[in-house]
Amino acid sequence: MQCQCKDLMVIFEEIAPARLAEPWDNTGLLVGAAADAIKGILVTLDVTREVVMEAAQKDAQLILSHHPILLQGVKSILKSQYEGAIIYELVKNDIALYVMHTNFDAAKGGVNDCLAQALGLKDISVLKSAPAGAFLKLVVFAPESSAEGILQALNESGAGQIGGYSHCSFSTRGTGTFLPGEKTHPYTGKRGELCRADEVRMETIVPVERAAGAVAAMLKAHPYEEPAYDLYPLALAAPGEGLGRVGFIEGDMDIRAFSALACEKLGATALRVFGDMGKRIQKAAVCCGSGGELIETAASSGADVFLTGDIKHHDALKASGLGLALIAAGHYHTERVAVRPLIARLQSRADKLKYNVEIIESEIDTGKAQNFVGSPV
Ligand SMILES: [Zn+2]
Repeated sequence: MQCQCKDLMVIFEEIAPARLAEPWDNTGLLVGAAADAIKGILVTLDVTREVVMEAAQKDAQLILSHHPILLQGVKSILKSQYEGAIIYELVKNDIALYVMHTNFDAAKGGVNDCLAQALGLKDISVLKSAPAGAFLKLVVFAPESSAEGILQALNESGAGQIGGYSHCSFSTRGTGTFLPGEKTHPYTGKRGELCRADEVRMETIVPVERAAGAVAAMLKAHPYEEPAYDLYPLALAAPGEGLGRVGFIEGDMDIRAFSALACEKLGATALRVFGDMGKRIQKAAVCCGSGGELIETAASSGADVFLTGDIKHHDALKASGLGLALIAAGHYHTERVAVRPLIARLQSRADKLKYNVEIIESEIDTGKAQNFVGSPV
């Protein structure tokens, strides 16, 4: 089936919900239109002019990038400017751009999970949990004869999941009242007459990103012309969502051995390590990209070492003061590990939905500008 950008955006939202993006971030569809027909998606960490040209050459109508563009207010789009040239190239080739950034870092199965798994950590948990607001309570009132069908539609649309339990709901019987107006077509009762109907109140839980689909499925299964339903925000966070991860290292090793392992697993040429190289470590905290702001959280989690992409001088001093060893593995290398798992998830979801779309990895190494040169002594 030929799919449109908006069909794929539903999958992107399931994988990296927009609510998990940091307030300063710029995620979602940044260039293009929801109605664009998509046959190919090029997945990349960074969108550069070269990546756009690669997408055009490989017949990809959509670029899925981790890092955004357009973080600052835009006053002009000039070919002579860095971002202007990228946008110009996208528009010229009619290629859409979708970004999943900090929302994909924080998501369950996102960049931080991929990083922790790549390093072989065990018993992985979230370092800094995402704020509450992951779920809604959906309440709907319906005649008893339709209740089962409505609950089934809700369950199939992703509602009613609590941890490992599916089909979670609660129902109570009661009396609904309504007075059908002149132009109505009531399922039960008569126009102009107050009706008292035996009804069931059903309530279930739904993740925010699946609420629109669940409501649409419920309305389709509901016999009333104007079904009554409520959506309440819940002060609950979803387990497994948030920034950074912490877990246990398999075997007994020191910082030197763990750094060598990280170098190999992340495909990095070299790492910067701060701390006593001989320190024995058991517990490691990780954060993809620039995780400096999580140094104190990592230290209080009981981790012996914190691995992230970029580290500033003052962050290194802070970690040293807290007795936490630090590894700067490079921004690119701490995030590249998520690209292939993401492609596999997307392709499997698209195939299940019978979308005729091919998802490929960009061959442009946007981390290659980094070189390591020793002093010529
Ligand atoms: Zn990043």
